[in-house]
Amino acid sequence: MDLFAVISDVHGNLEALDAVLADIDLKAAQAPGGKRSVLFLGDAVGYGPNPNECVATIKKNALQGVAGNHDWAVLGLTSTSYFNPHAQEAIRWTDGVLSAENRAALEGLPLVNRVEEAGLFLVHGSPYEPEKWHYLLDFSQAKVNFEHFRERVCLIGHSHLPFVMERSPLGEITAYKEGAELDRAGCRYIINAGSVGQPRDGDPRACYLLLTGAGAEFVRVPYDIGTTQHKMRAAGLPPPLIERLQKGL
Ligand code: ZN
Repeated sequence: MDLFAVISDVHGNLEALDAVLADIDLKAAQAPGGKRSVLFLGDAVGYGPNPNECVATIKKNALQGVAGNHDWAVLGLTSTSYFNPHAQEAIRWTDGVLSAENRAALEGLPLVNRVEEAGLFLVHGSPYEPEKWHYLLDFSQAKVNFEHFRERVCLIGHSHLPFVMERSPLGEITAYKEGAELDRAGCRYIINAGSVGQPRDGDPRACYLLLTGAGAEFVRVPYDIGTTQHKMRAAGLPPPLIERLQKGL
């Protein structure tokens, strides 16, 4: 059985990324015979202390990906005026350490992407005006966005909050926080994969999304938060960004 592992919002957190990729390998080994594909939904960099390692690791492991607003910010492709001061400082720090090779890798990421054979649409923020980095959080925003992709499933990141939204053929929308089966007749889905490197739903463990024949499952993986925080302190990154990792907020 084919298996898609969806990772998003890594934000330069290598300990979280490595823990997630190891868990994906474990899950793939438990489901032999299938193909394991990793999809990346943007924000490889920003906030965390290992942007170069994270970009290189994502490039090596992901079948397909898209760019996030922090990736575009470090490339100078989007304004950081709406970023909070700590996020702006982290972008400036990242800009100073990112290699030319990894910058080129980020430049190679499109704004939207598709896995045609699996009926998947990929975007960081929202299918509607992806370059404006809208948040997609509630039913009215979902309603608009279901009109802006044609695939059965749209995968997003950006808010760092995992959820599944299901649209019935009659247009009714239902939200699931703990994952969901994706097999209801005529239904379409928008799924937020959560965040690998900076979860914000109160659970500090790294989060990724597993898509299998059984549906969508959010997987939480513990990682060595102390090591990431130690590296952030050594790099002089803003203390609030360091503290929030252990709270998952
Ligand atoms: Zn993000």
